[in-house]
Amino acid sequence: MKQDKLFLPTLREAPSDAEAVSHQLLLRAGYIRQTASGIYSYLPLGWRVLRKVSEIVREEMDRIDAQELLMPAMQPTELWKESGRYHVYGQELIRFHDRHDREFALGPTHEEVITTLVRSEVSSYRQLPLTLYQIQTKFRDERRPRFGLLRGREFLMKDAYSFHRSWEELDGTYRRMHQAYRAIFQRCGLDFRAVEADAGAIGGEGGTHEFMALADIGEDTVVSCDSCDYAANLEKATAARHIRVEEDRTIAAARAFEKLHTPGVKTIRELVTFTGLEADRLVKTLIYEADGQPVAVLIRGDHEVNETKLKHVLQAEELALADAAITERVTGAPVGFAGPVGLHIPIVIDCEAADLPSMIVGANEDSYHFSQVVAGRDFVPHTVADVRNAAEGDRCLACGGRLEFHRGIEVGHIFKLGTKYSEKLGASVTDESGQEKPLIMGCYGIGISRILSAVVEQNQDENGIIWPAAIAPFHVHIVVVSIKDEVQTALARQIYQSLRRAGLDVLLDDREERVGVKLKDADLVGIPVRIVVGKYAADGRVEWKMRTEREAMLLGVEEACAMAKEMRQKWESMGGGE
Ligand code: ATP
Ligand code: MG
Repeated sequence: MKQDKLFLPTLREAPSDAEAVSHQLLLRAGYIRQTASGIYSYLPLGWRVLRKVSEIVREEMDRIDAQELLMPAMQPTELWKESGRYHVYGQELIRFHDRHDREFALGPTHEEVITTLVRSEVSSYRQLPLTLYQIQTKFRDERRPRFGLLRGREFLMKDAYSFHRSWEELDGTYRRMHQAYRAIFQRCGLDFRAVEADAGAIGGEGGTHEFMALADIGEDTVVSCDSCDYAANLEKATAARHIRVEEDRTIAAARAFEKLHTPGVKTIRELVTFTGLEADRLVKTLIYEADGQPVAVLIRGDHEVNETKLKHVLQAEELALADAAITERVTGAPVGFAGPVGLHIPIVIDCEAADLPSMIVGANEDSYHFSQVVAGRDFVPHTVADVRNAAEGDRCLACGGRLEFHRGIEVGHIFKLGTKYSEKLGASVTDESGQEKPLIMGCYGIGISRILSAVVEQNQDENGIIWPAAIAPFHVHIVVVSIKDEVQTALARQIYQSLRRAGLDVLLDDREERVGVKLKDADLVGIPVRIVVGKYAADGRVEWKMRTEREAMLLGVEEACAMAKEMRQKWESMGGGE
């Protein structure tokens, strides 16, 4: 492609509201433009990258016998009422009425549509297993659209759904999907981890994994072991139990609890200063509301409550910290002095807090705490469970290694849904014995447009983007120093044609611009190989530079072309083709 006519509007400065590096660079380098908050146009270069990512996804999906189709973005909301998600999904679901006053939603995901499609077309187990996928624009009215393509309100997703007669069959497809996802993210050049995740609102039994691109801007926390391959997101991660405090249980049990006068000591930090003890001897009591009912949660002072785990333990739909008024009503004391002794609401205590021989807790009275409180003696917890977040440096449950924390961007997600949708929507098949059985399902998403941002977060420097070759908009960028120089333009065209014939995607900068501008733009746009045709053109030599390297080399034209073709072969072989 010739750059002179290419719609590639680059910017010197990033718009001030773009915080993430990837957002700034995709705007500056002319890949995307914003139309409204979280809503973008993909300009020609952006679209080329999206198409390359989509192609990789297609190849890997087709390889595991998934079949591509395309479903409507407009979905009758009756389907959402049938599945029970109409209210659960909340405001992210964009709803509207057609001229006949029938309500529709813009698809944020397609479990309802595909399950009803398969319900009417698949009736026998002989048609299974079946895996279908699409690459399509999704709509979610996100509360906080941000970071450009990372969290859009309209974005490109690959969503796949599989249908089975047994859990074993689903397990097989799930494993193959897992492998396909690994291949996809590897081919896209991402540094990622596959992590165990929580099934969340979409529900279902069995496993779910998230694929996390590691990047500081990521909204998720990836917990991984430094010595085995355990990795989970923070919501799900568990750590080995560890009692740091050496205290004799028998002595602790024989001692009555004591009241401490602690005026103005409301936080754990203040209590640490006041008592001179480590936070792991102190226990926080937090009052939550679970489906409208108050619950006390006890956790060690050095730990944080994991609300996902807590929700599961309480089997609650809605969970939130109670406000000050409720806390005061329930405990009879101002916030900061809550404790379990004499409390008349259910008490959940984290395992490691329960492990403490004795603890310091609030006394449910302004300016007082109790010390030497013993769980089971001075208060009786309703539930002892792991309800805390793993912490950096904790020991791995599997191998005893050290848990590390990274920030991650969720680029893919695979779920075993089981019969959650097929039961609600009545999608079943008859098995060998003629019995009707609900279909067992899996679903598998990839944020195609989010991948662009994730890749740029991981691959850039102060001058611009550095695309991995497999998804770069072009493989080679030829820059003509002076287009008025006929020798230079002729040589550049010759290289351009030779490389294109060899199947490379080539961008030829034939603009009438100062060379400094062209080189700056080339760095910004981030094509892997740059060939500059300038003053050495007369003796058949050009400058070759990889975007990943600082220095350029002077090469003969033949050699430069041969190297580019060789690179192509190398990239192809990395493409995972069998
Ligand atoms: P998140 O926790 O980031 O909101 P999600 O759990 O809602 O993600 P899924 O419903 O599993 O996401 O969607 C499948 C994939 O679509 C995600 O793994 C992610 O890569 C992508 N995705 C989800 N929401 C967005 C969005 N608002 N913008 C861009 N990509 C998105
Ligand atoms: Mg979401």
